[in-house]
Amino acid sequence: MRSKAHAEITLLMDALAFSAYKHRNQRRKDVDASPYINHPIALARVLAVEGGVTNHRTLAAAILHDTLEDTETTYEELKEKFGRAIAEAVREVSDDKTLSKEERKRLQIEHAKTLSRRARLVKLADKICNVRDMAAHPPHGWSLERRREYFDWAKQVIDQIRGTHARLEAAFDEAYAARP
Ligand code: NDP
Ligand code: ZN
Repeated sequence: MRSKAHAEITLLMDALAFSAYKHRNQRRKDVDASPYINHPIALARVLAVEGGVTNHRTLAAAILHDTLEDTETTYEELKEKFGRAIAEAVREVSDDKTLSKEERKRLQIEHAKTLSRRARLVKLADKICNVRDMAAHPPHGWSLERRREYFDWAKQVIDQIRGTHARLEAAFDEAYAARP
């Protein structure tokens, strides 16, 4: 009989392959236009290595976190392939793209405290990775002022979910303190 650990690692490998495929034609906004998949991998690494998170569903949700928002992937597809818990966590961290950018930014702050623990962990990792990128590999063409506005907005989101994970919150605060 195959072990539980084997099943969990299989699910994680399948999530990596699925996310890489779904994001295959996308690039990050940095000057080098990095492959998009580097970002979901970075979230999973932050959670596992810096946060000590070992729950495979949380790590899989991190790997899949931008598939609903940024690709044609559906909730049903995620549920079918990865189960309801992972699909639900991805849905929780996805913005409604029919709304304006301003509204989406406002709702992230407003909704943060309603997130489940799993979604909060993914949200923390996403903001850690994005503010680190905003400092080291910022979106091409963004002014210093726009980058600083991003840091302040990200902090407003994270301030709503304090008390979730001390080490990850400290990692966010460290990245925020190093803002340009
Ligand atoms: P976006 O939300 O479109 O861009 C930031 C997002 O891009 C991140 O959250 C991340 O999201 C993704 N991303 C991709 N590549 C990178 C990277 N290399 N580094 C960091 N993040 C990356 O930002 P907006 O266009 O909404 O602008 C943010 C704010 O700036 C708004 O409040 C807006 O009002 C303001 N603004 C200011 C201007 C100015 O000149 N001062 C001009 C225009 C807007 P993900 O993880 O989901 O991929
Ligand atoms: Zn993201």
